Amino acid sequence: MAVIGDPVAHSLSPAIHNAAFAAMGLGWVCVGFQVHPAGLADALGGIRGLGIRGVSVTMPHKSTVLEGLDELTPAAQALGAVNCITNDDGRLIGDNTDGGGFLMGLQHDFDLDPAGLDCLVIGAGGAARAVVRALAGARAARVGVLNRSQERAAAAAALAGPQGFVAVADDVRWADLVVNATPLGMGGDDTVPIDPSLLVDGQTVAELIYHPARTRLMRVAAERGCATANGVSMLVGQAAHAFRQWTGSDAPIEQMRAGALRGMGLLDEN
Ligand code: NAP
Repeated sequence: MAVIGDPVAHSLSPAIHNAAFAAMGLGWVCVGFQVHPAGLADALGGIRGLGIRGVSVTMPHKSTVLEGLDELTPAAQALGAVNCITNDDGRLIGDNTDGGGFLMGLQHDFDLDPAGLDCLVIGAGGAARAVVRALAGARAARVGVLNRSQERAAAAAALAGPQGFVAVADDVRWADLVVNATPLGMGGDDTVPIDPSLLVDGQTVAELIYHPARTRLMRVAAERGCATANGVSMLVGQAAHAFRQWTGSDAPIEQMRAGALRGMGLLDEN
């Protein structure tokens, strides 16, 4: 299989999928290809011609790749973004597995089913949109979207149908589940996307960021009695959904998680 992006060297897909292929003894391999936007159509032709079974899609191709595909799943269609392509005898099917991956992460990290919960998603970009749609599909009671741009917040909230609404900062207080789907707190950035004093004991705070492994939001939320986790489980979960589509087998989740952590330099091998 392949991962296409520009740049692509930072992608953890090869580390995750190669760990899975090795664990399952499949003899498959995942290779990263740096594909310039102008070369995307040729790359899709190459995938068909070479019979590459599965492709992970990363930036900047997640939206532009749609027009070159033969079929889209309901998730890819609703989100207007594809992160996973399955090559079915030359027919390229685009899917978006981020939402399913997020729900797997909630289950793994918090043993949490969002059905009936009040949820608040911070951010309205590609990741937030996938999370909002997934939470509504999992029968969350309400899905609020808190975002800098109100227009994008409204568009993301609409993905949740009647459960969706555009949130205000104070809504953080009432949420059972708070999700950070902005890049605030990523890398060397030590900022938080909300006023931490609004967080209350017993809330669940899911961070989509995985670098650093513990963001400032996670630290302050834990201090206030919230359960917290980073975005590693979503990353592994979206890859697990893709693995199942390509191979027809259940994904070896723990080996994939170990592959991701190894790729991030976070796995203590001793
Ligand atoms: P994106 O499409 O660029 O969206 C970013 C969102 O954050 C937008 O809603 C934007 O608001 C908001 N934002 C950006 N800078 C901000 C600032 N300075 N102040 C307030 N709001 C700001 O990004 P994305 O692809 O959705 O990714 C979002 C985060 O999720 C990233 O940290 C990414 O690494 C993470 N992620 C994790 C996984 C995983 O598997 N764990 C998967 C995908 C993404 P506006 O709409 O107002 O511009």
